[in-house]
Amino acid sequence: MNMTTKDYIAREDQYGAHNYHPLPVVLERGEGIFVWDVEGKKYYDFLAAYSAVNQGHSHPKIVKALTDQASKLALTSRAFYNNVLGEWEEYITKLFGYDKMLPMNSGAEADETALKLIRKWAYKVKGIPQNEARIVCCDGNFHGRTITIISMSTDPDAYDDYGPYTPGFVKVPYNDLEALEAELKNPNTAGFLVEPIQAEAGVYVPEDGYLAKAKALCEKHNVLFVADEVQTGLGRTGKMLACDHEGVRPDVLVLGKAISGGLMPVSCVLADDEIMLTIKPGEHGSTYGGNPIAAKVAIAALEVLQEEKLVENSEKIGAYFRKEMKAIDSPLIQEVRGKGLLNAVQIKPTNGKTAWDVCLAMKEHGLIAKPTHEHTIRFTPPLTITEEQMADAIKLIKKAFAEFE
Ligand SMILES: *Cc1c(COP(=O)(O)O)cnc(C)c1O
Repeated sequence: MNMTTKDYIAREDQYGAHNYHPLPVVLERGEGIFVWDVEGKKYYDFLAAYSAVNQGHSHPKIVKALTDQASKLALTSRAFYNNVLGEWEEYITKLFGYDKMLPMNSGAEADETALKLIRKWAYKVKGIPQNEARIVCCDGNFHGRTITIISMSTDPDAYDDYGPYTPGFVKVPYNDLEALEAELKNPNTAGFLVEPIQAEAGVYVPEDGYLAKAKALCEKHNVLFVADEVQTGLGRTGKMLACDHEGVRPDVLVLGKAISGGLMPVSCVLADDEIMLTIKPGEHGSTYGGNPIAAKVAIAALEVLQEEKLVENSEKIGAYFRKEMKAIDSPLIQEVRGKGLLNAVQIKPTNGKTAWDVCLAMKEHGLIAKPTHEHTIRFTPPLTITEEQMADAIKLIKKAFAEFE
């Protein structure tokens, strides 16, 4: 039976939960910055699986690490040691300059781990009375989808009808140091969880200095500064970490997505002993967390970022992208913003045409991207994209916008 795009979509629609609203394209192959649909049409991938595929689709070195380890030893659980987890732990702690790493799978789990670390530290080190620890988070945040994490959310789609919610969170406006300090002053505040750039919310870049000042305020009030770099980390914003733009070293660093180059769910949390060792054996974990395949894949994915100078490329091509996009004269384009290759175009709906319509038009021209919320299109290709490829991609984007004039 020869299935078409329509058939694949209908099948998912019938048998799959409707918890996503995908662009109507059915992909079957990927290589580098390109993907192909079931009809053989080629696209520039300008989502890169929400920045999980920073190294490009099916990077040969990462695929090799995966297949080599998969045929040797895939999963031991943490009931036993394996011979490669330590290699990853040593590699990543030295790379980012922390005492210890704790491995998990999804970004949400790594954020949950960070929240647990904050609470343990609150009671064991800071001396906050039991069950009184407060964690400050930001309006517009996105940290994942668990009940506890969505308890922090201000997005009705993520939040509504999922109560009762986990207590212990305080929300402050993003990019507002005064509101932050007012909460940090409370002696029961233990941690501040923040995205260096709010990606899901629409690529909101805070004012220069916000992160450094927030970190300084956290230090002043003995509160842990916890950076969720699941999306902004690993070269996406033109530095290895988005916090590097302001020379900030988070007390707890959360990584995910591109740490596996898109091959499997891998995430982790980095922290120093004073924080990490508050969790004792048996108090937290995950069956698949730190599995041998993940360890080898993560090392390979981190090596690729460095060997291929993807961080530098992200900075350079990102600047070029924003310059070119800002030069487009379209009534639909309200603002272009971002850092490195984490960029967004704010769409001003015109003649009833929205960000979704622009994405459909771009798809027809051979470039796929997705609106985040209603009026923002995120442009986040793999960091392996060259200047020539970006120039070509921008031509396609321009053609799509030109259709709405
Ligand atoms: C994607 C994302 C997460 C959640 O990661 P999952 O792997 O989908 O659970 C958490 N934080 C940020 C900033 C993200 O972008």
